[in-house]
Amino acid sequence: MAMETPREREIAAEDSIRVVCRFRPLNDSEEKAGSKFVVKFPSGGDENCISIGGKVYLFDKVFKPNATQDKVYNEAAKSIVSDVLAGYNGTIFAYGQTSSGKTHTMEGVIGDPNKQGIIPRIVNDIFTHIYGMEENLEFHIKVSYFEIYMDKIRDLLDVSKVNLSVHEDKNRVPFVKGATERFVSSPDEVFEVIEEGKSNRHIAVTNMNEHSSRSHSVFLINVKQENLENQKKLSGKLYLVDLAGSEKVSKTGAEGTVLDEAKNINKSLSALGNVISALADGNKTHIPYRDSKLTRILQESLGGNARTTIIICCSPASFNESETKSTLDFGKRAKTIKNVVCVNEELTAEEWKRRYEREKEKAARFKGKVEKLEAELARWRQGETVKPEEQVNLQEGPDVTTPIAPPVEVNSVEMKNKEHEALSEELLAKQTTLNTTASELQQLRDMSAHQRKRIAEMLTNLLKDLCEFGVAIGGDESLKISADSNGKLEEEFTVARLYISKMKSEVKNLVQRCQGLESNQTDCNKKVKILSYLQMKYNFQGGDLTGARKDLKGLEETVAKELQTLHNLRKLFVQDLQCRIKKSMNAEDNEDDGGSLAQKQKISFLENNLDQLTKVHKQLVRDNADLRCELPKLEKRLRATMERVKALETALRDAKEGAMRDRKRYQYEVDRIKEAVRQKNLARRGPSALIAKPIRAGQHHVTGVNAIKPGNRENKSKNSFADENNINSDVKLIYNAYA
Ligand code: ADP
Ligand code: MG
Repeated sequence: MAMETPREREIAAEDSIRVVCRFRPLNDSEEKAGSKFVVKFPSGGDENCISIGGKVYLFDKVFKPNATQDKVYNEAAKSIVSDVLAGYNGTIFAYGQTSSGKTHTMEGVIGDPNKQGIIPRIVNDIFTHIYGMEENLEFHIKVSYFEIYMDKIRDLLDVSKVNLSVHEDKNRVPFVKGATERFVSSPDEVFEVIEEGKSNRHIAVTNMNEHSSRSHSVFLINVKQENLENQKKLSGKLYLVDLAGSEKVSKTGAEGTVLDEAKNINKSLSALGNVISALADGNKTHIPYRDSKLTRILQESLGGNARTTIIICCSPASFNESETKSTLDFGKRAKTIKNVVCVNEELTAEEWKRRYEREKEKAARFKGKVEKLEAELARWRQGETVKPEEQVNLQEGPDVTTPIAPPVEVNSVEMKNKEHEALSEELLAKQTTLNTTASELQQLRDMSAHQRKRIAEMLTNLLKDLCEFGVAIGGDESLKISADSNGKLEEEFTVARLYISKMKSEVKNLVQRCQGLESNQTDCNKKVKILSYLQMKYNFQGGDLTGARKDLKGLEETVAKELQTLHNLRKLFVQDLQCRIKKSMNAEDNEDDGGSLAQKQKISFLENNLDQLTKVHKQLVRDNADLRCELPKLEKRLRATMERVKALETALRDAKEGAMRDRKRYQYEVDRIKEAVRQKNLARRGPSALIAKPIRAGQHHVTGVNAIKPGNRENKSKNSFADENNINSDVKLIYNAYA
């Protein structure tokens, strides 16, 4: 939230970011996998040193695997409570690979005195402090809880706010605009808010472990206090951040959407790394805070007005050695960053007036001094020598003019001489450099001329090739290039480009035509396939029976015609034969025997042929009869198949309609349950959410909660919480079934 009030940073002080490092014990799977404990903690000293693979790292504190939650809180976080109550901003964030112990450190098991982490301990401590403070102080405490996932800010206290934006207040401090703020007046109320946020976070996702390793969760505590006696107001913001896992993408073996997600998260973490590197560099003027929402939110925490502690969480296993090293390097860089912290104080009108008077006086003094200095300068410019005792003292405040050590003329001459010598030397050096540069320039010129010549040659060759290419493709003759002329390169180049673009379009046309032909070909292939399929079907199932019948008839007709022709031929042949025999009988007996022998052979050959043909004819007639028998059977089978197909089609349509109806019914159920949950949430929050609940210091907050805070929030029974959780889990079940 923005600080809406004017404030002043008078007592700003430089403050390094504190970096502490915590190693968790080896976990079961690491032990099972035989992973070794690769970290060493040098004994003695301040417990601020670790070594891994021979490399030593120093931090503000190093916590060994057996460090208790209590120890970590006391030594790394506790001091932030008094800072925030004194009007400073604070940030604690946990950085490290997934399962290195970030959530264990920040949150732990809330409500368990031993296992609870930093957040619940801070919350308890803030209230304990307030209860022990002066009675004339009034506190307003509000909390917000959101997460950053894929660079989108989701409000965990209002599920409808899924993409909050970061704005700047009038002091140019970024804040999450529109984030729900809950006023709280006791630790239990804070824990309820945390529970609510966590259960909202669970509803939105299917796998919480995976989700929490990919999102950053931010818990913000905003403390404002007013001194009722002198109206002095202080405010402090405390960001408690559990970052996404810092592991490299490659190790997770992510793919597709998961990979995009991982990259996006890594993007905000690498933005964080870049901001820290830029700050650590010290010379960088631009710090890339705007590269991600995370870095914008943490802008005041990194290099701004906040006391910041980074908790580096690490695994000690050999398997994670490289991740651990890069985590430690991150911490090392962060350690060099300096913040400039000051109290966020809102001044009373009285105080403003006092400060205004003070500043006015100061300005008047400075004005006087400037006038004196100008007068002295004018004298120097006129060639006068201003005596030391008359000179304005630059070391002291604006209103004092005490003399300083007198400069001696001789000294100044000597100084000038020395300066002159130095300048001469410099001039000489410059001259030599100039000479070398000039010769280099000449060399470069020669080289460039040579290069130019070569380029021209190459270009000519290229153009020649292009000409040939163009002729081959059959382009426009008018664009032909005179390849042998050396001058007018540019003109030719333009012509060549024209020519190339023409060829390009030509080639495109060709490609299109090719594609057309190819598609034609595939069409033809398809048709051929269909035809052969139809033929197969025709062979196996009788196919188109009327067609078959037609074919059969045609065949029969052809065969009958052939037979008729054969018959005629046979007749002719027999006639001819008889004629010949008669002739031969009438002929003289001395005729050659060999001739009649040949004729006889011919006759027997023809008779054989005749027999064969008769056989074929008979066979065809038989086949025809068989096919006629087969035809009705095939017709019956075809009819049966068609009926079956129809029945199956109807069944399919019915099934589809049934599925549609079911789907609609389930959708309706899901919507109904979601609405119920929403109504419950609304009812639970009640109208009191934005009403401030002042807490008076010095009074332990036991009774009167209802009296301070109107509305029904505190009347909510535990049962309503349980109901809601049940409904939420129902929604999740249905959601999962449909996901
Ligand atoms: P992260 O939030 O970094 O992914 P978690 O805090 O969830 O990791 O820790 C992973 C597991 O290791 C949890 O079961 C947690 O209880 C356990 N763990 C983490 N740090 C410690 C520790 N210092 N001592 C004992 N158990 C730890
Ligand atoms: Mg975690």
